[in-house]
Amino acid sequence: MHEIRIPKYVKPLLRELERMGHSAYVVGGCVRDSMLGKEPMDWDVCTDATPEQMKIVFRKRKVIETGVQHGTLTVRSKGHNVEVTTFRLESDYSDNRHPDRVEFVDRVEEDLSRRDFTINAMAYSPKSGLVDTFGGQTDLASGMIRCVGEPDVRFREDGLRILRALRFAARFQFSIETETSYSIRRNRLLLENISAERIYKELQGILPAQGAGDMLLGFPEVFTVVFPETERLIGEPAEGGRESKWARSVRAVCGMPQGSFGLRLAMLLHELEDAEVNTAMRRLKCDHATTRLVKTIVAELRQPLPGTRPEMRRLIGRLTKPLVHDLLTAQCVVKGVNGHSTAGVREARYLLEEVLDGFAAYTVRDLAVTGESLMEEGIPSGPGLGKVLEQLLREVQDETLKNDKDALLKRAREIF
Ligand code: ATP
Ligand code: MG
Repeated sequence: MHEIRIPKYVKPLLRELERMGHSAYVVGGCVRDSMLGKEPMDWDVCTDATPEQMKIVFRKRKVIETGVQHGTLTVRSKGHNVEVTTFRLESDYSDNRHPDRVEFVDRVEEDLSRRDFTINAMAYSPKSGLVDTFGGQTDLASGMIRCVGEPDVRFREDGLRILRALRFAARFQFSIETETSYSIRRNRLLLENISAERIYKELQGILPAQGAGDMLLGFPEVFTVVFPETERLIGEPAEGGRESKWARSVRAVCGMPQGSFGLRLAMLLHELEDAEVNTAMRRLKCDHATTRLVKTIVAELRQPLPGTRPEMRRLIGRLTKPLVHDLLTAQCVVKGVNGHSTAGVREARYLLEEVLDGFAAYTVRDLAVTGESLMEEGIPSGPGLGKVLEQLLREVQDETLKNDKDALLKRAREIF
């Protein structure tokens, strides 16, 4: 295990709390990531000081009251924001998501007991060393996600933890401990009580991760709670093979680069009907750009690849360059997992490069003339003008006309 090196902007906060007789630790994700030798995203501090006491300790600092009722203050230190939270217990999760009550407690061990997984339930301070009440260090070393306490109880308190478990397992390529994984399957319907926004955020962590495929194959019944449309894929055989459409889709997900979310989501849903994809994206409250990407890729995958430069130009005009690029990546992956030749995709890639190399027009906006310049030539505004522009674009794309102002104006007069 790597040693925990607390950054210069966090150390003084621990010292200032301790000087006033309080205990203070760094806790959670930053301890876990440090021990794995990864740079933590942010450092969280926990302490037995109440928010009122913290305000006294940090009276010379800028303090933002982010969540006083939950015990959290944000403290400025050397240009950074650090969240400092009072040790607390949470209870009565009547909505399976939010604790109805939080209770401040004196001991760090109690605070650790409310945390989700053993690897997230360790605290450290230079003064007291590592506090590891639930065996987080052992689980970290053996690559295990295990609930703190009774898994059924912990998932019933907060159903989102089901997806958090899959996210951490996917991110670190860890396994999920047996009792925890049985409990995840048993309690999967709790995800129905979780807001779309929270689920979507977890998916954005799971799908791009290295271990996404293992989770999708290992816990299909969890993902069908999130995507009921995909349930039938588990039972349907994929084209020409013994595996299911679900397994085939998962292989397509893994064929996409790590870190890509939209493309991997498109691969997961690519065996569905357009209408089903639409419903799924709407239910998840997926952002506009990702929705467009996923819907376009799924729909366009069924179309033949462009085979000529004019066809390629029209495709770019319809989808934009980056989307055509993504579409070809998707075509390549889908053909690959289905055992088809990818030669056609390679040709289309050459075509794309060729078309992008030359000066070309993809939409009427790229033409060397504008509606105004045509009007100056005496062509009246209105639908007729639009038709002339579209005809010019078609001829430029077909390479029968040069995208050159004089040539275009001459041809416009002929058409009109
Ligand atoms: P990441 O690097 O993804 O931010 P993290 O461990 O820092 O990972 P956070 O969601 O930022 O995760 O939460 C910080 C800590 O708070 C966790 O390490 C865990 O101890 C605790 N925690 C967060 N969410 C929950 C939850 N839903 N149930 C129990 N404990 C939680
Ligand atoms: Mg965090």
